[in-house]
Amino acid sequence: MLERAYMSLPKESLTKERFQMPAVDSMIQGSKTLVRNFDQLLKAMERTEEHVCKFLTKEFGTAVSPDKGKLVLNGKFGLIQVTHAFESYLKQYVLCHECGKPDTHIMGEHGVKMLKCQACGAMSPVRKL
Ligand SMILES: [Zn+2]
Repeated sequence: MLERAYMSLPKESLTKERFQMPAVDSMIQGSKTLVRNFDQLLKAMERTEEHVCKFLTKEFGTAVSPDKGKLVLNGKFGLIQVTHAFESYLKQYVLCHECGKPDTHIMGEHGVKMLKCQACGAMSPVRKL
């Protein structure tokens, strides 16, 4: 009598897929710029609204304010510029400086902030906002 030698294993990977950031969806409205999928971007980056807003305030040198899942920038900024700002945040505060994986969190107190990677264990200092 025949028996199956083994059961096929589900093809599941334990490692995270390569990090996928949703494309920034921004538009200029009057004298302001609206990032329409700000909530999606926050979710993908797993960072707080407050931290990202602080960064963008410095990056653009203007007031930014979250508004029901969207983000309003004071001033007119093109899509490329806005995308670039988010990419810059990602590189500095989300992706591990050593291995490039997104499994990180920001830790530290008394002014010194470190980006700690769960994947490779690296700790990299990050600029305080
Ligand atoms: Zn790492």
